[in-house]
Amino acid sequence: MNKVGFISLSCPKNLVDSEVMMGQLKQKGFQITANAEDADTVVVNTCGFIDSAKKESIEAILEAARLKTEGKATRLVVAGCLVERYRDELKAEMPEVDAFIGTSQINDILSVCDPQTNTRSLPVIPLGNQSATYLYDESTPRVLATPSHYAFIKIAEGCDRPCAFCFIPQMRGHFRSRRFGSIVAEAHQLAEEGVKELILVAQDSSRYGEDLGKQDALAHLLRELSHTEGIEWVRVMYTYPTHISDEFLNVLAEEPNAVKYLDMPLQHASQNVLKLMKRGGNRGSLERLIERVRKRVPGIAVRTTFITGFPGETEEDFDELMTFVKNVEFDRVGVFTYSDEEGTPAFDLPNKVDPKIAKRRRDQLMKAQSTIAKKKHQAIIGQTVLVMFEGEANESDLLWQGRMETQAPDIDGCVLINDAPEGFVPEPGQLVDVLIEEAHEYDLVGRIVAVA
Ligand code: SF4
Repeated sequence: MNKVGFISLSCPKNLVDSEVMMGQLKQKGFQITANAEDADTVVVNTCGFIDSAKKESIEAILEAARLKTEGKATRLVVAGCLVERYRDELKAEMPEVDAFIGTSQINDILSVCDPQTNTRSLPVIPLGNQSATYLYDESTPRVLATPSHYAFIKIAEGCDRPCAFCFIPQMRGHFRSRRFGSIVAEAHQLAEEGVKELILVAQDSSRYGEDLGKQDALAHLLRELSHTEGIEWVRVMYTYPTHISDEFLNVLAEEPNAVKYLDMPLQHASQNVLKLMKRGGNRGSLERLIERVRKRVPGIAVRTTFITGFPGETEEDFDELMTFVKNVEFDRVGVFTYSDEEGTPAFDLPNKVDPKIAKRRRDQLMKAQSTIAKKKHQAIIGQTVLVMFEGEANESDLLWQGRMETQAPDIDGCVLINDAPEGFVPEPGQLVDVLIEEAHEYDLVGRIVAVA
């Protein structure tokens, strides 16, 4: 049977789509290989969000096309957000690609990978008509691409927010939630497969259930999932600042398995820029929000992201953002320079900022945050912290690594482990107590002192 290799780019939501496509293929008898060089069919699941991600996607497609001309592959399929955004251009400029499937054509992966299928005759279903309805559920087969101890669960798809810099709603369609029962059933399935940490993702997790007429559904879902047998941790990513409810914070505070971690992209803090971004709020309202979060959930880690160089951002606006970051002292911060994306409202705004200035502002912000991060990590030295063991460290096979509940996979630092009691080798996903002896900007270093 045909061997299929996946190259999955960008965010966890795209990774879940790749896992679902691999699951469907495997169920139909296709072999899935992690090595694209060994595949008969190569699938590149792309990102179309910002310039750098688009470039990375194009390069990955060209690299995969090389496997067709120089390697074993006979078929190249391109999927994902870049297809939604540039389907016709890609089709015209990339004849080496046999088939393009969009974010709502996940089920078409079977026909486009079938060697019998003449892909040129496949119907094209443009997402533009906003009728995107695809949502996987607990009966959809998935091949997990994450390490066996954690898994992402996509709780909703699409987005209805008007953020001026963002093309995602046009690539992913209207906001639509999965059924509560479907997510709970999937969580139990994953727990039975040995998963210890569930990471809930969506474009806009805070809105979960609103379209199903449910109030505070994310809080109820989190409370329910935190009681899933076998699951140690449940984490929520991509919340939205205007939708952080008291009940959600109550669950984070009260449920031991709901990790004390809030991922909430804010993008800016100046009222002027937030208004131009169509996100609303101001420094005062955001500072009060963080205060409220930290008061209700002591010890919570707050992760956020900012954009510098948004059209109309003045030096004063940037100074206000710097003041905000220094006042609030976030635990984790990512900063991106504005990407001028045609088809978004921001693309037509005046007062574009010189990319050099945007970059200088990003570097200044990251430098300020680096000092804060180091100070916060220094304060942990001498403490024994709960760590989910993950196995051999990425940076050295002389070390092990794990994560605290305040560290999400891939985007946050980790805990490097340099020692453990004689003969004690924990399993990935096992919780251990680690005495922290060293602290760096992103990572901590310590030794296992006990099984948690
Ligand atoms: S919330 Fe805003 S930034 Fe996030 S996906 Fe929706 S429109 Fe884009």
